[in-house]
Amino acid sequence: MNSEIVNRIKIQQDDITTLAVDAIVNAANTSLLGGGGVDGAIHRKAGPELLSECRKIGGCPTGEARITKGYKLKAKYIIHTVGPVYRKGGNSPELLQNCYENSLRLAVENNIKTIAFPAISCGVYGYPIQEACEIAIHTTIRFLTDHPSIQQVIFVLFSREYLDVYMDYFTSYSKNG
Ligand code: ADP
Repeated sequence: MNSEIVNRIKIQQDDITTLAVDAIVNAANTSLLGGGGVDGAIHRKAGPELLSECRKIGGCPTGEARITKGYKLKAKYIIHTVGPVYRKGGNSPELLQNCYENSLRLAVENNIKTIAFPAISCGVYGYPIQEACEIAIHTTIRFLTDHPSIQQVIFVLFSREYLDVYMDYFTSYSKNG
């Protein structure tokens, strides 16, 4: 793979709510009114004004994305996307791919240069980490190739185990892709 693209992707173990990037992506649910996991952590850190803005948006279908301000976060924006609840043999892969594409498209439209993604759908929504990681990395690389304005995409994993899955796949993709 093109080394210029490799350099625009970072993978790290972290709490996504602490990052000083232009935008962090939230693994939200269709109500956009907050929930558990990373969604709950983002709402707690950003403060109650986030919920007020989300209420006005009025929800988001699975696979789509919406943007709000970051409020008390260091990130300027939050891009809320709704991952699929994993179902073997269903359309989960297409929907997860849509989440990454639509989030990145919103980033370009809002002049966002640095964006961090959690492992969308890999918590309570039950997506197998290896399959989700392949979709996340493949979709992002294809998008970055066509959109030079995005300088950095950071994949943020909460656990060491998930970090290793992303690192191993990205390393093999970089060598063979
Ligand atoms: P979903 O409902 O889309 O499955 P979850 O929030 O349950 O979303 O989980 C998505 C992923 O985000 C999981 O791998 C979980 O470990 C991770 N996660 C939870 N909190 C954070 C955080 N503060 N920063 C980064 N990742 C997080």
